[in-house]
Amino acid sequence: MNWKNEVFNRKTEIIRDIQDFLKINSVLDEETAGSGKPFGEGINKCLTTLLDKGAGHGFCVKNLDGYAGHIEWGEGEELIGVLCHIDVVPPGDGWTSAPFAAEIRDGRIYARGALDDKGPTMAAFHALNILKELNLPLSKRIRLIIGTDEESDWRCVEHYFKHEEMPSAGFAPDADFPIIYAEKGLIDATLQIECPAHEKKANLVLEEFQSGKRLNMVPDEAEATLSGTVTDDFKQAFTTFVKEKHGEGQMTKKDNTVIVKVLGKSAHAMEPNNGVNAGLILAAFLHTQTLDTAGHHFVKTVFEAFYDDTRGKKIGIACDDEMSGELTLNVGRMNYQAEQGGEIGINIRYPVTKKSGPIQESLHTLTGIELSSFQDSQPHYVSKDHQLIKTLQKVYQEQTGEKADLISIGGATYARSLKAGVAFGPLFPGRPDVAHQKDEYMEIDDLLRSVSLYAQAMYELAK
Ligand SMILES: [Zn+2]
Repeated sequence: MNWKNEVFNRKTEIIRDIQDFLKINSVLDEETAGSGKPFGEGINKCLTTLLDKGAGHGFCVKNLDGYAGHIEWGEGEELIGVLCHIDVVPPGDGWTSAPFAAEIRDGRIYARGALDDKGPTMAAFHALNILKELNLPLSKRIRLIIGTDEESDWRCVEHYFKHEEMPSAGFAPDADFPIIYAEKGLIDATLQIECPAHEKKANLVLEEFQSGKRLNMVPDEAEATLSGTVTDDFKQAFTTFVKEKHGEGQMTKKDNTVIVKVLGKSAHAMEPNNGVNAGLILAAFLHTQTLDTAGHHFVKTVFEAFYDDTRGKKIGIACDDEMSGELTLNVGRMNYQAEQGGEIGINIRYPVTKKSGPIQESLHTLTGIELSSFQDSQPHYVSKDHQLIKTLQKVYQEQTGEKADLISIGGATYARSLKAGVAFGPLFPGRPDVAHQKDEYMEIDDLLRSVSLYAQAMYELAK
């Protein structure tokens, strides 16, 4: 079977379909949401357009109350799933051509959703359509499962799998080639720091401390408000300290207070070492100064538990495994108010073969720190010898001539909503990841290559 030829012969139709599909604005829109269209008009139009197209080509299709849908081909007991999504993030500003114009320039289609994930969704549809047109014998069914809320709360897959069967294996064309087979576990936790009674008499009082907003990002800004006397020594020490830690410091006087600010460097929480945590630098500096008892207690606790440690060694949760590496810890948010005490929000990504129980236990037993919330999304992985992995590796190697290395990540892909699922494309190695950015695009050649890969993958998995 020459898969690439089959795709080449349908090239014009595929590109036209992808362009038309990208022209539908499918951003979540609660305003126009209603019965049968829980995520608004745009998403609903996109879903029904694709399902109608499937029906028109003679596939079995189903719409699950507008939450999700599927397009099915093949026969047999077993089901293979291909999980895509048609919702997109808002386009934002600064586009060269309109984000829903799907303009072609230099061999690329530019549009919100070109890469994530409407381009690949239509690519997968055409892959399935090739199997149908060639009338290849299959012993399993293949379902293109179409999600509509991936960019927000995954209410689509939640609804879908409440009512529909879970495929025995499958892939999601919503991340990177070759194959992402392991995704770490994710924990969001909130910790309260109990502080001793506040005493106003100290020379320098920590009134407020604020750092970061989101747990999954390294904060690049932190601010503390101090009242009392700020000496020249303090200023000098601050400048030197912050510089040494690769941050940038600012100090401003406001009425009877001084605002001390640190700028760091933002990074994704899956590798906090790529950033500079402004909040931890500020806490570590304040820890070297003489503050009121409560304020000192807060920064000391932060310093002792988290400073200069993104692996959880200081709080006794460090662990690692061969498949996915070390546990990572990001202190994404910190708040402190005199009289009220402090609150810290952390994001932990733990190795795929570990459990969250012992981590929760360790957080519970920290001295002077109370664990007030703990949310866990368990690790997801498919064994290296699983037939799914073997098949996708074979297909990828055959068609690209490149080795299909297995990738393990600290993030989460859509594949984790399948029981035995991996992420398989659409971004080829070396290509920039422009998902969620202005001027999002997909190389037309890559789109066509992915149709060919998906077609063979579906066939090999279901034959
Ligand atoms: Zn996506």
